[in-house]
Amino acid sequence: MALLEVRGLKTHFRTRQGDVRAVDGVSFELEAGETLGLVGESGSGKSVTALSIMRLLASPPARTEGEILFDGQDLLRMDEAQIRSVRGNRVAMIFQDPMTSLNPVLTVERQISEALELHLGMNRAQARRRTIELLELVGIASAERRSRDYPHQFSGGMRQRVMIAMALSCNPRLILADEITTALDVTIQAQILDLLKGLAREYQTAFLLITHDLGIVAGMAQRIHVMYAGRIVEKGTAVDVFANPKMPYTWGLLRSIPRLDEERRQRLTPIEGMPPDLVDPPTGCRFEPRCQYRRDICREQEPGLLTVDGVDHEAACWGTQPVAGGGWLIGRDWRRDMGDLHTLDDIKHEAATVLVGHAGDATESAPADLPPAGP
Ligand code: ADP
Ligand code: MG
Repeated sequence: MALLEVRGLKTHFRTRQGDVRAVDGVSFELEAGETLGLVGESGSGKSVTALSIMRLLASPPARTEGEILFDGQDLLRMDEAQIRSVRGNRVAMIFQDPMTSLNPVLTVERQISEALELHLGMNRAQARRRTIELLELVGIASAERRSRDYPHQFSGGMRQRVMIAMALSCNPRLILADEITTALDVTIQAQILDLLKGLAREYQTAFLLITHDLGIVAGMAQRIHVMYAGRIVEKGTAVDVFANPKMPYTWGLLRSIPRLDEERRQRLTPIEGMPPDLVDPPTGCRFEPRCQYRRDICREQEPGLLTVDGVDHEAACWGTQPVAGGGWLIGRDWRRDMGDLHTLDDIKHEAATVLVGHAGDATESAPADLPPAGP
């Protein structure tokens, strides 16, 4: 049994304009200790998926259907008390902006200790000791002294580390990390990713790593799921998705990965056009209006998420599915169409270069016990 099994998840928001189908039939699994990358343009439903898992959406306006099995228990059928004991205890979530989740008037030590006292029943002294250990674990230098500081006294990257320490406080089996490096500069971003990677390895923590930037999940995630307009449109191993992506939308995402060096960063090419209206999405493929490879069938019928090559690689695209009326993109040299693209090796190499190249001159104190850079 997988650690997390999401089946047919639908989260719709009731609005004056109609029902916004933010998440519209999403299914996936996450094994213990696995890092799964959930990737897609802004507005594709990634955050709503995570918030639905955490049961953090107000209802109304949100209405969630389906099953979210965590350790075999359906989170959607738990009462408030049960879900509270899961949240922050066995499942934790980290957000892009730690300032929204950290309490500005409490010291860092107080906030983490409170969680430890509440969830693990530690006494004051135990909680304080454990807090300092956790701050050291996430690479905060002089942890004992810094634990007495308030959130605003930390830089962005260090604050994100505090959030990670807080998420780790109760030894969660699963951490949902939503765009947590998006606001950070590339050097700090690489350090935080390296920290997460070390944690996943060391403690077998599973991560759902959410980002709009495919580059972030390269070298981090074992598998990648690509989201568009409330649906998962491609699923595969990281290697398959980077080396052999099957969905023109994924090709576009690959092309829009920012380079880590400044000069090339500006040459980021977003996918043309706008995501569809989620109140009244297209009947066929939801990406069809923006797809340069579309044919009539794409507008007329919605493609299923089918195995395209190999058991673990699925895509929802008529063009790459070997079915009647489809398949016209099979074997297409899409890399030539897309121009300047990154391979998985490029991206991993850049990430490693940034880490090594800036280790000495980082404006933030270098973490004492950061695990070594990955392959
Ligand atoms: P992502 O995280 O992929 O950028 P989100 O999951 O935040 O996207 O949002 C998915 C869609 O749901 C968006 O179109 C967004 O506007 C819509 N949405 C999110 N929250 C609400 C809400 N409270 N009411 C109405 N629509 C919402
Ligand atoms: Mg989001």
